[in-house]
Amino acid sequence: MSWKALETNQPHVAKMIVNSIRKGRVAHAYLFEGQKGTGKKEAALLFAKRLFCLTNVHDEPCETCVNCRRIQSGNHPDVHLVVPDGNSIKKQQIEQLQEEFTKTAVESNRKLYIIEHADQMTVQAANSLLKFLEEPSAKTVAILLTEQLHRILPTIVSRCQVISFHTLPTEQIYAYLQQQGVPRELAILAARLTNNVQEAFQLSQDDWFAQARKIVIQLYEALNKQYVQALLVIQQHWLSHFTNKEQMSMGLDLLLYLYKDLLYVLLGEEQQIAYDDCINEFRRSRFLYSEKQIAQHMKAILQAKARLHTNMNPQLLMEQLVLQLREGSAFV
Ligand SMILES: [Zn+2]
Repeated sequence: MSWKALETNQPHVAKMIVNSIRKGRVAHAYLFEGQKGTGKKEAALLFAKRLFCLTNVHDEPCETCVNCRRIQSGNHPDVHLVVPDGNSIKKQQIEQLQEEFTKTAVESNRKLYIIEHADQMTVQAANSLLKFLEEPSAKTVAILLTEQLHRILPTIVSRCQVISFHTLPTEQIYAYLQQQGVPRELAILAARLTNNVQEAFQLSQDDWFAQARKIVIQLYEALNKQYVQALLVIQQHWLSHFTNKEQMSMGLDLLLYLYKDLLYVLLGEEQQIAYDDCINEFRRSRFLYSEKQIAQHMKAILQAKARLHTNMNPQLLMEQLVLQLREGSAFV
């Protein structure tokens, strides 16, 4: 994420960083909270760069000096990142951090640490950190990141300046992707699926994603024709393309958006649809489904998504879904 993107996407965060540095009022501890994809970690790294950047003329980090570059590559001796070791952040990890911080800063007189998924600290780790936060050194800055603020100990929250990151409106992400020359049909879906500019952009550049979209449309077209044809799409294309849970989940999301589109067409809200190259197909098939049926189909897709976590055989899962999506259909 660039400084410009931070200013556009989370202007209050950019302003907070600039003001606190300008006025020499950098807090000892910050807690960045907000949904996945809102750019918390990127903002923490930008904060670090802004603090350590050797070119202090502008408000934004230069990205080219040795400090900016070392922070970017994770090699700055005075900037530490703590991430969960397996499923949790362990006490030893916090102790190591403390040990590291009792040494004088190697190059500047400041040190900064970022704790990613701070809600995953074990109770012991959280208590260790709490002691650490209670004896702040003037030159230490902590940035805790979390998607689940309610899971952080209140005693820790009360020692941090809490900064909330907002989810970006889909339109904003979509507009950005279009500026980058991403075709409309991929831009809309990528924006809706990710809620995140960077992830959406990466996804839209991925052939796998474009192919995934095609297979979803193929499945829908087959469902409107014959049960057997839909099964063939599953066996010949779907299962070999969506090969793990994450990919299956995305495939089902893509299918869900398609049925949502069908509902929009039925409700006369065609400007909302994501698969606008399929508009004629949707208009044709509007006579095949009632609103209630589409709602049932969407429910079936969501149930299939939930079943992904039960380790059900993917082929069985998809074949059952196809059956449900054919249920009550007025055609053979
Ligand atoms: Zn710099």
